[in-house]
Amino acid sequence: MKTGISVEEARRIVLEAATPLPAEIVPASGALGRVLAESVDSDRTLPPADCSAMDGYAVRAEDLAGASTDAPCSLAVVYEVAAGGRGERPLQSGETARIFTGAPVPAGADTVVRQEDTDRAGERVAIRVASPRGEHIRVAGGDVSRGDLVLQPGARIGPAEIGMLASLGRTLVHVHRRPRVAIASGGDELIQPDGDPSGGRIVASNAYSLAAQCEDAGATTTNLGIAGDTKEDLARVFRAGLSADLLVSSAGVSVGDHDHVRAVLEELGGQMRFWGVRMKPGYPLAFGRIGEQGAWVFGLPGNPVSAMVTFEQFVRPVLMRMGGHEACFRPVVTAVLAEPLTKKPGRLHFVRVHLKHDGERILASSTGDQGSGVLRSMTLAQGLLVFPADTTALAAGDEVRVQVLDETFFRTREPLV
Ligand code: AMP
Ligand code: MG
Repeated sequence: MKTGISVEEARRIVLEAATPLPAEIVPASGALGRVLAESVDSDRTLPPADCSAMDGYAVRAEDLAGASTDAPCSLAVVYEVAAGGRGERPLQSGETARIFTGAPVPAGADTVVRQEDTDRAGERVAIRVASPRGEHIRVAGGDVSRGDLVLQPGARIGPAEIGMLASLGRTLVHVHRRPRVAIASGGDELIQPDGDPSGGRIVASNAYSLAAQCEDAGATTTNLGIAGDTKEDLARVFRAGLSADLLVSSAGVSVGDHDHVRAVLEELGGQMRFWGVRMKPGYPLAFGRIGEQGAWVFGLPGNPVSAMVTFEQFVRPVLMRMGGHEACFRPVVTAVLAEPLTKKPGRLHFVRVHLKHDGERILASSTGDQGSGVLRSMTLAQGLLVFPADTTALAAGDEVRVQVLDETFFRTREPLV
């Protein structure tokens, strides 16, 4: 088993382990945010027929040659076609049909004249423009032709894809199954949020922040509850999570006398791929698998910030990939550092930063105390600044790379354009 590896190596190892989960069939209308696991071909032509893009008159363009305001062309209005209707018979030369938006263009007609360019008088209409052939017609197949490959496997299903599936008559769709994550907490000091905090006991908040991070990455979660600091109890809780795709535990993964996570995983048949990543927060971090085909396991550190930051770096991309997503990583921006930062060489630091737009630039400043227990710093941070392992100082004004955790950072109160 590897130990003390770099963030990059840890990322490579976890991503090698992650493969898209098999497909399941779900109602297309409920598939928002899922990833397509099939290609969608059309057995339809859309629009199904040439239809009018305007309210006006269907005409033969040749009849309008030379028409103008001063010399309008007069045509006989022989019938009317509304959306959902059809022309009674082919139009002859000198004839027109009143037509409405979305109505099929009758045989014989090849152009639609906007109603604003006409003057109606009883059974006749005067047309004041010589429209080019085909104007204001949406041609059959202008959107989709029968046999077209419309959506590819791997496409993320957004509102447009949902509308397209509906247009094609697809009520069900194959998407990658959501990853199922079981979340375990371990520690004699831990209580549930409604528990009694007297005697210095603390809430197992990681189970909640990690579950929310899982859901944000498209996974479903089960909270396995809190194990006490004995091997037996930890094994009991872990066993309950082994049917999940991923078991995520926090705490008890370090080297203290009460840290049993690694030993228990080995007893359960776990093969550890690595322990310890050269990063801060979050050095103690274990990754492996129970058996050849079993659940993947992340033993995350217990400190609330370490748990969340290690989740961001390693668990989130794995869940995204399992869900079929091709783009698994957060957006990264180049920001200007507002204040100097220093550290020792050796570990990559993820500095919680506040981000601010400043004209075309983005300014990054530390949220303050970077202690790995200061969960509040995560509520204040929009991003994680990457302070590279071997860099020891960054100066105010330096350009830095920041992973944007809070994608609402890109939203604005007022329209920008
Ligand atoms: P440990 O890795 O067990 O030494 O835990 C490190 C720190 O994280 C300790 O201060 C624990 O109390 C805290 N901690 C452990 N588990 C959780 C949890 N589920 N939620 C919040 N804090 C935790
Ligand atoms: Mg502990």
